[in-house]
Amino acid sequence: MRIVVIGAGVMGCATALELTRRGVRDVLVLERAVPGAEASSAAAGMLAAQLEAKDPVERAAFVRAREAYASWSEELREVAGVDIGYRRCGALDLATSEAEARRLAERVEADRAAGLRAELLDAAAARALEAGLSAEVTAAAWLPDEAQVDPPQLLRALVVATARRGVTVRSGATVSGVIEEAGRCVGVALDSREVIRADVVVLAAGSWSSLVPGVPSGLPKVRPVRGQLVMLEERPPRLSAIAFLGGTYVVPRGDGRVVCGSTMEDVGHRREVTALGVQSILAGALRIAPGLGAAEVSRTWCNFRPHAEGGPQVGASPLPGLFLATGHHRNGILLAKVTGDAVAAAVLAAG
Ligand SMILES: Cc1cc2nc3c(=O)[nH]c(=O)nc-3n(C[C@H](O)[C@H](O)[C@H](O)COP(=O)(O)OP(=O)(O)OC[C@H]3O[C@@H](n4cnc5c(N)ncnc54)[C@H](O)[C@@H]3O)c2cc1C
Repeated sequence: MRIVVIGAGVMGCATALELTRRGVRDVLVLERAVPGAEASSAAAGMLAAQLEAKDPVERAAFVRAREAYASWSEELREVAGVDIGYRRCGALDLATSEAEARRLAERVEADRAAGLRAELLDAAAARALEAGLSAEVTAAAWLPDEAQVDPPQLLRALVVATARRGVTVRSGATVSGVIEEAGRCVGVALDSREVIRADVVVLAAGSWSSLVPGVPSGLPKVRPVRGQLVMLEERPPRLSAIAFLGGTYVVPRGDGRVVCGSTMEDVGHRREVTALGVQSILAGALRIAPGLGAAEVSRTWCNFRPHAEGGPQVGASPLPGLFLATGHHRNGILLAKVTGDAVAAAVLAAG
């Protein structure tokens, strides 16, 4: 069985890897630019299952995805020899008002009722855990099982692991069309006019997925939601847990790097870090931990979350032979392993 995957982001690479685990030998990943260079390497890397879930069903799925990382990080270390920076660093959801504290109390209660670890802390207890928190903080939900990875390392590991498992990743190969014959997807065309026939095509082109010609028009549109990030360097490192307040987060890597984010902008694929974006991220980060004011700004960047109406598009599509691994919006790193599993299983189940 020959399988072509469009896009070498975290979704395309994870799917390719899971296909090889199930014994598929001929997997070709086509990447128009550099493997992993788009949203996947740009992400903050939070595995924030409890923080990000909007309802109990999503929370159960997200927690399963987060827990899958413990063994996946080990496997990637063994196969690729790369440390993906997986750390169960915990997360603090912060409140600065009575109303926010009540919302956190409800969250903690719901998480505990679902069998998850969560604790409501008053200001003193929160600062005992993370001394650098602002005096504005009045309460916090402590979620000790939330975790993180270092996305550029994750993508390096995936690119090495897929190669070692026999996957071919072709860079500089832009798919210019999905080919349909007699109501079935039978391959792809490249902009070089080369045609590659395949038994199965997996669409994993991130926020560009709806722009690939030939993709069925009835599928939910995937649109880009720009996010900007700022990397700070604390010397010596002080913060240790992920912290969230009012739409801003800080993700300390443990070695002095602190990723601060992010914006959510509907501006198409405009690849710009803006003055307003950086200003709002830094204002939010300093509201969480004022000591970050002395940290060095070492890098800023942006990329595009693939947002699909109705949530991620995973598995079979209405066009036989075409499978989907796209539309993961804010949680594509978190959901990578379980998506790779689900798509590989769907491909093999379809025969
Ligand atoms: C600022 C920011 C912060 C984030 N933080 C987090 C986080 O903390 N935790 C989390 O879980 N998620 C986070 N995300 C979301 C996560 O990064 C994405 O959901 C995920 O990376 C999407 O992966 P992907 O493989 O679908 O897309 P991408 O990584 O964008 O990969 C798609 C690939 O397809 C290629 N491609 C496109 N069109 C074609 C074509 N025609 N032919 C060939 N190749 C093509 C592209 O070049 C690209 O390499 C964040 C995203 C952003 C932008």
